[in-house]
Amino acid sequence: MTADVANGPVRLPILMYHGLHAGADSRGRFDPVYSVAPDRFARQLDWIQAQGYRCMLLDEAMQQRGNRALVISFDDGDVSNIEIALPLLLERGMKAEFYITTGFIGASGMLSANEVRQLAAAGMGIGSHGCSHAFLEDLDTTALMSELDDSRIRLQALSRRPVDAIALPGGRGGERELHAAQSLGYRHLLGSVPGPNHRARGDRCLQRLAITRNLQMEEFASLVRWQGLSPRLLQARHAALSLPKRVLGNAGYQRLRERLL
Ligand SMILES: [Zn+2]
Repeated sequence: MTADVANGPVRLPILMYHGLHAGADSRGRFDPVYSVAPDRFARQLDWIQAQGYRCMLLDEAMQQRGNRALVISFDDGDVSNIEIALPLLLERGMKAEFYITTGFIGASGMLSANEVRQLAAAGMGIGSHGCSHAFLEDLDTTALMSELDDSRIRLQALSRRPVDAIALPGGRGGERELHAAQSLGYRHLLGSVPGPNHRARGDRCLQRLAITRNLQMEEFASLVRWQGLSPRLLQARHAALSLPKRVLGNAGYQRLRERLL
């Protein structure tokens, strides 16, 4: 075993989902890009199992030495996380991480406090996705620290477990956010830069694979394997979306995105 391999997984696909919605009238908050149809999600889980991937919580996956570990994650805390995703995961003996924006708890279409407790009690991972979903890199230090810490305290109280991972709202953040999170006791920071996490380490932002509504099965397979054209297309799309972010700033980008979608 080489030193590199001893440091963690050789490769770690971390899938990023949001809500699971058949259509715009489904319960929860439908998003035309990020809402994945439940039957498609179920087929993706079946493919993961058939391929011999071992789906596990992030902490456990980071200790793995091979390249068969895989992590499923959900952002925001849509009510479909418990109504649709949880039963499909439990049927297959699979676990997932739920990164929850605490300010959304109890809002229309979102998880209630009790449902967050139920996800934790079912063995799922609970992590932070901020308090307000503000993009952390836009905030001054005081606001940044309270987004990180207040969300963590609330989720620890609900899950009755340590919360040591945060998914960056909007995927936005860098060194400052990483160091601030680590100073408060977070061990894992997840972004939305697409990538296979070669030799993933806790002291860097983890890459994730955005699973979008129109992703076909072959494209999904290509992304998880990080082979073929789909990884390049995802990277190109991420780069194309990052450019207006830099030029317009986060607020301007958000207005542009809303208009385009
Ligand atoms: Zn989000």
